[in-house]
Amino acid sequence: MTPPWISTEMVTLAAAYAAGRLPHALLLHEAPGAGGDWLAKWTAQLVLCQRVTDAPCGSCAGCRGVATSQHPDLIVLQPIEESRQIRIEQVRELSEELSLTSHQGGYKVAILTPADALNRFAANALLKTLEEPPQRTLLMLVVTQPSRLPATILSRCQRVRIRAPDRQGAVSWLETTRGPGDWNAVLDALGEAPMLAADVDPAAVVQVGAEVRRALDEASTGSADPVATAERWVRSELPLRLRCIENWLTERIRGHYEGDSFFTKVGAGPYLPGANAVLNMGELFELVDGVRELKSALETPINRGLALEALLRRFVPGRGAIAAPAPSGRR
Ligand SMILES: [Zn+2]
Repeated sequence: MTPPWISTEMVTLAAAYAAGRLPHALLLHEAPGAGGDWLAKWTAQLVLCQRVTDAPCGSCAGCRGVATSQHPDLIVLQPIEESRQIRIEQVRELSEELSLTSHQGGYKVAILTPADALNRFAANALLKTLEEPPQRTLLMLVVTQPSRLPATILSRCQRVRIRAPDRQGAVSWLETTRGPGDWNAVLDALGEAPMLAADVDPAAVVQVGAEVRRALDEASTGSADPVATAERWVRSELPLRLRCIENWLTERIRGHYEGDSFFTKVGAGPYLPGANAVLNMGELFELVDGVRELKSALETPINRGLALEALLRRFVPGRGAIAAPAPSGRR
């Protein structure tokens, strides 16, 4: 089902296409799990649909080819599995492919997702194609963190912002798309990421989410055993657990901003002993970075157990950790 929170962007893109003003490069900047890939596929269908007056119809050979990623004029570039990076060889192949005439006499479309996985060399190689794109080419870069791309790339793409819907909108879309379920609890675990939630087993996520919350609450009160927890978590659902940890941290950061604590304590300066709002905020952000680093290092030959244990230790008070008040906005 069409995600209603993207409808404005869809209308804008369709109007630009109808008027012959569709840019050759789009940066689809999404909130995590808010539908960047979905909009990229929809836009590919828009330009590759065989029914001009009704595009994208969703049922012609063109639309179906895009939906199954089998269309000869659609190229999807994703990270090579082990490296988690989009590499220069992939971009060179893409450029060659784009320079050929399209199979069906229309557009050639490339989707790079997530484009923030382009490594430095690959980004440089892509620049040339962005500067001198062949006629009737559409490049779409799906990103959650555009700051990881060089400014030279960003400046050559038109940005389309995809924001996550509010909680109620996400839940009712999930109920329509996936049927009844405890979607509130799923989003509590994953964050406001409806597209991500639509792809999971809700019961399993709720269980893992509750377990992670309990462990982090225990860690921040000093009553947890990071070694045992890390050993257990490395063996099951680690990427999901990291997503839950990131969301747990984000909620606390939001709690600080929404509550009075940030504004009342910010003037106290960062050098007071013990926990204060400024230190806590800095540490929360550092922990978010730590989780993201671990996420992107998952496929590299690191010792995941040790890395996770080190991360969990940073939640323990007295080790540069959070003396976390419950976030004021929630719970
Ligand atoms: Zn169609």
